Amino acid sequence: MAEIIDGNAIAKSLHEELRSELLAMGSADLRKPCVAFVRVGENPASVSYVSKKQKVSAEIGIESRLHVLPESVSQPELNSLIDSLNADDNVDAILVQAPLPPHLSERDTFNRVRPDKDVDGFSAANLGLLCQEDASAFVACTPAGILEIIKRSGVETRGKNAVVIGRSIIVGKPLGLLLMRKGVDATVSICHSRTENLREICARADILIAAVGRPMTVSADMVKEGACVIDVGINRVPCAEKKSGYRLVGDVDFDGVVSKCSKITPVPGGVGPMTVAMLMKNTVAAYKRHVLK
Ligand code: NDP
Repeated sequence: MAEIIDGNAIAKSLHEELRSELLAMGSADLRKPCVAFVRVGENPASVSYVSKKQKVSAEIGIESRLHVLPESVSQPELNSLIDSLNADDNVDAILVQAPLPPHLSERDTFNRVRPDKDVDGFSAANLGLLCQEDASAFVACTPAGILEIIKRSGVETRGKNAVVIGRSIIVGKPLGLLLMRKGVDATVSICHSRTENLREICARADILIAAVGRPMTVSADMVKEGACVIDVGINRVPCAEKKSGYRLVGDVDFDGVVSKCSKITPVPGGVGPMTVAMLMKNTVAAYKRHVLK
């Protein structure tokens, strides 16, 4: 039976580390770190993610501001809010919650955020720095959280086959760059909806990461005996027994895979909390750059 990696516990210890770091820095003439959240519309998942991020910010000692714009907001109106947050010296970090409504450009929006406040790491500037293996890059929070889980769980990456299913800017692409960078040294394959022989490619993986957004994409026959399986997917499936009417599942057939792999992240309680923890880490790093310069 695999070890079930406790993302909540790893995230909690990271929160504790950050809280202590801020307490140690605290002095009367130093303002607190501040992150600004921008949410467009009332997508229930986005409402829940932003409120969770605000709650954790408060626990660590980070101030947060929430800007909610109507679903119908125009790109120039959204840009103007980002510009004002970029110019505000009391704001260290800006997070525009994705997904945005289809009439808005996620790419233009992410690129509008000043690179030193882009704690999501989705701007061309930070993605470029990541590609150049520059230590000052803000690395996208979910990929950074996955790498932290892998490291803190004692999983060997050097020379190992890592297979990522998914090639988005939010997860797959930056994760591929992180896993192949010097010091991590995995041999990386990135798969997507047009990949041929997905089963065979996955079955060679020492580390298999699913970021698809489709339940049961990874079945036991796609997993190598003893592999480490990281399930990024968050899918809502109808469930009459739950008050909410749905339950959360990942992209992996957890019950089928758990007896075959060596380690696996659950959904919920795996990658999700680590994404929030890495956002906090990036926010504290942005704050330090601003106040200690
Ligand atoms: P996207 O929809 O942007 O990307 C999904 C990727 O999966 C695409 O590259 C797509 O290929 C690929 N794909 C789709 N179907 C298949 C298939 N049958 N076989 C192989 N590849 C396939 O999603 P995201 O990257 O934004 O998110 C992925 C999942 O991770 C979602 O469930 C999301 O909710 C979750 N997520 C979780 C986070 C967390 O904190 N735990 C944070 C961010 C996301 P193609 O490019 O060809 O279309």
